[in-house]
Amino acid sequence: METKIFKVTKDSLDILREASKLLNSGELVAFPTETVYGLGANAYDGKSCSNIFLAKGRPSDNPLIVHISSPEQAENIAYTCDLYYKLAKAFMPGPLTVILPKKDIIPSEVTAGLATVAIRCPKNEVANKLIEISNIPIAAPSANASGKPSPTCAKHVYDDLNGKIPMILDGGSSEFGVESTVITIKNDVITILRPGSITKEMLGHVSKNVQIAPAVKEELRADEQALSPGMKYKHYAPNASLYLIDDKSIDFIKFTSKMQRLENCAVMCYDEEINLLENKNLLPVGKEKDIKKQTKNLFNLLRSADDLGVDTVYAHLPKDDGESLAIYNRMIRACAHRVLTSEEQHKGGTNG
Ligand code: AMP
Ligand code: MG
Repeated sequence: METKIFKVTKDSLDILREASKLLNSGELVAFPTETVYGLGANAYDGKSCSNIFLAKGRPSDNPLIVHISSPEQAENIAYTCDLYYKLAKAFMPGPLTVILPKKDIIPSEVTAGLATVAIRCPKNEVANKLIEISNIPIAAPSANASGKPSPTCAKHVYDDLNGKIPMILDGGSSEFGVESTVITIKNDVITILRPGSITKEMLGHVSKNVQIAPAVKEELRADEQALSPGMKYKHYAPNASLYLIDDKSIDFIKFTSKMQRLENCAVMCYDEEINLLENKNLLPVGKEKDIKKQTKNLFNLLRSADDLGVDTVYAHLPKDDGESLAIYNRMIRACAHRVLTSEEQHKGGTNG
């Protein structure tokens, strides 16, 4: 199958109509959103949705997020509540996904057999217009091959899915660069299953009871059931071994300079550190305090690390609160929880 890429804005109506025709006839279309690129199918069509799993190589027990173009459309597919509408008023359209009890019209392929469905109303104008024109809810996970970092531009989608899908809508690079914040709601309690650009503090303006699921920061125990199936997968992993350096106990520059001499490694450093390191395989993440830019750059840098062909990658251990929690959650899983808190823990890296 030939994969065609079209540059689009919300006003590219001919192309968006073409895309909606494909979606309504059961095909898959990749499209931009403000978080990452999505791989869309008609959410009412179980067969099309199962093709998403095939194209991505996604485990069939990891459910999809259903995208709608206005918060009220949730009524067609789920049982809503007051708190849903309070959240919608504050954060929709935007990078927030809410899990609600599903209605029968949503096929089990979308929810991987769960009784709940994940719902999001994207703010990106191309995504929103595409859903509106298609006149159906669109089930869409991130448009990467499973296990790869999520795509933040059309090229990433093409690199992973060329030949497997008919169309990619290219709306430029993603505004936020990490996937949406996923939450469940029960009575007045909000639980964050996956952190994103809508933070715990922001959700705190809508409900006093906001908690973070343990699997966001820690590894799931073997006997523990994931609240969100996606939590149990490694995800986002570069081919090289990624190590996170706790710079409270290790001198980052001294340690990574040494590793640059000993190993074929890349270093994800702050912009301020570029001149302190050897100019070899550096992946600057942004300024130390610029968490928004670091978030936006994250997946592109993890993909670049693979292009460099290095054996190891070193990066700062991100803070695990506020806006930085989304980066922490992705990095801790990308490194398979390899966090270095002392130099002795790491005797010469891959050679030691
Ligand atoms: P992706 O669309 O690739 O960003 O992944 C969607 C995320 O939402 C995964 O982590 C899923 O496990 C999670 N998710 C989707 N539907 C549900 C649901 N009904 N209950 C809990 N988590 C869900
Ligand atoms: Mg994904």
